[in-house]
Amino acid sequence: MTDSRPVYQTGPECPDCHSRDIVPILYGYPSAEAVAAARRGELLIGGLNIDADNPRWSCRSCGRRFSLGDVSRAM
Ligand SMILES: [Zn+2]
Repeated sequence: MTDSRPVYQTGPECPDCHSRDIVPILYGYPSAEAVAAARRGELLIGGLNIDADNPRWSCRSCGRRFSLGDVSRAM
């Protein structure tokens, strides 16, 4: 089976379910382009609060939100 879904941005794999169906979470005021991409499921709008501890990725398989730091701490 070929996955023809365009890769918006190459992300890590989910620390919980190891899916690679990961989308980046965008913070700050989203541009119209970002809103359109979010509607296509290519990214997630995380909100206006930009914080260093915010998770950067969202798993589309299990819904887990995580940052790259979470992954390295888990290992
Ligand atoms: Zn997952």
